[in-house]
Amino acid sequence: MNKLDSSLVTAALAERGFVLTDKATEADAVLINTCSVREHAEDRVLSHLGHLRHLKKTQPQLVVAVIGCMAQRMGETLLAHEAVDVVAGPGQLHEVPELIDKAMADHQKRMHVLDNIRQPAASEAIRDISERLDAFELAYDSDANHIKSQAFIRAMRGCNNFCSYCIVPYVRGPEVSRAPQAIVEQAKKLAGEGIRQITLLGQTINAYRYTAGDRTYTLADLLEQVSAIDAVRWVRFITSHPGQFDPSILQVMADLPKVCPYLHIPAQSGSDRILRAMNRGYTAEGYIELIEKARATVPELALAGDFIVGFPGETDEDYEATAALIRRVRYKNCFVFKYSPRPGTHAEKKLADDVPAEVKQERNAKLLEIISEIADQDNQTFLGRTLEVLVEGPSKKPHLNKAENEDNPQLVGRTKHDYIVVFNGPESLTGQFVKVRVTKTAALTLFAELVA
Ligand code: SAH
Ligand code: SF4
Repeated sequence: MNKLDSSLVTAALAERGFVLTDKATEADAVLINTCSVREHAEDRVLSHLGHLRHLKKTQPQLVVAVIGCMAQRMGETLLAHEAVDVVAGPGQLHEVPELIDKAMADHQKRMHVLDNIRQPAASEAIRDISERLDAFELAYDSDANHIKSQAFIRAMRGCNNFCSYCIVPYVRGPEVSRAPQAIVEQAKKLAGEGIRQITLLGQTINAYRYTAGDRTYTLADLLEQVSAIDAVRWVRFITSHPGQFDPSILQVMADLPKVCPYLHIPAQSGSDRILRAMNRGYTAEGYIELIEKARATVPELALAGDFIVGFPGETDEDYEATAALIRRVRYKNCFVFKYSPRPGTHAEKKLADDVPAEVKQERNAKLLEIISEIADQDNQTFLGRTLEVLVEGPSKKPHLNKAENEDNPQLVGRTKHDYIVVFNGPESLTGQFVKVRVTKTAALTLFAELVA
């Protein structure tokens, strides 16, 4: 979601004549798009601002903007920081170019964040903004000089779930779904410009609902409509919440070949006690039943998840239950996070952060080991298979398998199940579908060769 926001704001700035530079010393303005999900992410922003304050001593004209969730959460504090000129929340991103222009002209401090982000008036403002900012999604990656291999389209903003540990509902506001026509129009436009893969985004994308007249459109309807666009080859959606996951979504995944057989469906924990304290609204057994049903409906379904270790009160037994769930589900990959108390959330206010840092670290490392071991085993079944991949571009870690020469660099692509595949081929294949044969496998990567 943040990646999309950054690219939308960049595109909106480009329309005003700004160009990207990767050196702060060359910049007229520096924007920091922020995340508040864990304290560590916020700490990094604060240390970054420290550097920028220093830089401003030699570049007094530099304008610094802090945008996104942290701006929403701690606006005044950020505005008071010596380095900061502009503060804009996730609901004000469409105003950022104008705020930057003004700050460049008069060097006054400005803050635009929504008050009472969960009030109905804010929902209306957010709906309006969605349409103004979201339309900026571009097919062309001007930084890399080629058509992007995929485009993100926001299907909905915000979240109403209030998991007890999570800051998202407070900083991104209530769920607001975009009209299906707006999404489909955008997908058509992007497809017309060369995009072949669309990823629909939402914090809980399966909660997508849009009522027009007497009809309510769901995620299944949306997937069907986007799949109906000729030039679109693959459609995906992230992230799914395991509570209230409608079977119609699985059916559409099974019936429509363009809908990718991939679910990012975080369980967070395998312990019912912890799931209850997290306010997740399902049990471990309920989650596993859903996964079994999904696997039975959608052939070759790949699964990804998120887990939090060290939630308040998590015992060794709770941790073991999480490890057991992971062993049963056998994910393609997972993200594991150490619990981080977020100010204002239920867990931060009511539950002591009582799992010691070393225990969190140990559980984190052990879970990653289990996840990697499973993926390593399961990925071996791909050995020798020919797969279709969408080429994303040159690999950023070419040491994995050295490029033979400049015309044949190491490329990265993804299968429709979201497996990462690395192989050598001409850079001109970026954005195209190619066939590759798998020659070697690892836990996170398949290595392959191009098939003529
Ligand atoms: N909407 C998505 C997740 C958004 S946040 C969903 O519900 O699945 C991304 C991930 O960050 C979450 O899945 C969770 O695993 C993690 N996370 C959120 N709040 C956290 C916190 N306070 N401490 C540690 N991890 C957290
Ligand atoms: Fe946060 Fe839960 Fe909403 Fe995901 S579903 S964004 S974890 S509150």
